[in-house]
Amino acid sequence: MNYVRMTFDQIVSLATDCLLANGANEGNATAVARSIAKAERDGSSSHGFFRLPGYIASLKSGKVSGNAKPTVSTLTSSVVRIDGDNGYAPLALEIGIPELIAIASKTGVGIGALVNVYHFAALWPEVETIADSGMVGFACTAFKPSVAPAGASRPLFGTNPMAFAWPRKNNRPMVFDMATAAMARGEIQIAARDGHTLPQGVGLDASGNPTTDPKAILDGVMLPFGGYKGANLAIMIELLVAAIIGENFSFEAEEKDNNDGGPPRGGEFLLAIDPRHLGADDSSTHAEAFFERYLSLSGTRMPGDRRYANRDIASDGINVSQTTIEKINNLM
Ligand code: NDP
Repeated sequence: MNYVRMTFDQIVSLATDCLLANGANEGNATAVARSIAKAERDGSSSHGFFRLPGYIASLKSGKVSGNAKPTVSTLTSSVVRIDGDNGYAPLALEIGIPELIAIASKTGVGIGALVNVYHFAALWPEVETIADSGMVGFACTAFKPSVAPAGASRPLFGTNPMAFAWPRKNNRPMVFDMATAAMARGEIQIAARDGHTLPQGVGLDASGNPTTDPKAILDGVMLPFGGYKGANLAIMIELLVAAIIGENFSFEAEEKDNNDGGPPRGGEFLLAIDPRHLGADDSSTHAEAFFERYLSLSGTRMPGDRRYANRDIASDGINVSQTTIEKINNLM
């Protein structure tokens, strides 16, 4: 495969141009483009340029507003409601997260209810931003059904990711961000595209039989990680991103979606906790003792370190396949 070396700014610029050419305004286009560039930079390729055709499809179908003006309302001293105005999540998050951090720093905790929005990105950027301000961050979202509950062979849950970030003294935050499916759908799509097989336990075919063929899983159903334990986390996420904030469950998102290939409408639940307000003497130093013990065990690594390592080498340029660039140019 032929690759082109691009800088972060060149990726932002290419993605922005593509979104502008398809009707998004500058603010919405650059926010989505930054989210794509962060994913490319950190080696999260399933949420980089790979998502751009879906974003464009939902602009073209008129499902998503490329001119959304997100707003933030403070509902109580510890709750903000971020209304995405029928747009993509990245701009709403860029506007809402500073407010969430501000209330958490006053009260110790901030809950963010992100609604009226279309989420198609990884979650680590939002929790990393929260942790960069010294707060503990948590986020989760849903999608359309593709994952079966424990014991079932028909989908009800989205791949329902959740992310957690812990701020560290003199170090980058510890961040994990994971789907509650055994594998993220984007990874299965990439395996299908590239002709790879998958491990057992990722999904079932359309007849409900176990399979390692990514195409058969995409036609069938995905499985939660860890059997009923992952499935129970997926239930928790459905309740946090739908019932409690007044947004769609995955099954409702599917019923209302126009299936244009872009993201469905759904909510995101965000939490920021300021450790300074919880009465511990020095939670940061205490946590570092834990991390030291954790890393002393052979075979361990910090969650997030793969991305940070990619980020470190990205300053020398980010490889983007020539085919990807051609596809994007064809969208303009
Ligand atoms: P992975 O299984 O690749 O990784 C999950 C997490 O585990 C990452 O934080 C990863 O860190 C960490 N990790 C991996 N290996 C180790 C290890 N050996 N020790 C410690 N930590 C480790 O991610 P998923 O495939 O589950 O999810 C991919 C992405 O898809 C996520 O960013 C998620 O937000 C996104 N997604 C978005 C959806 C949406 O609707 N918006 C829907 C579903 C998923 P590291 O990154 O450093 O490897």
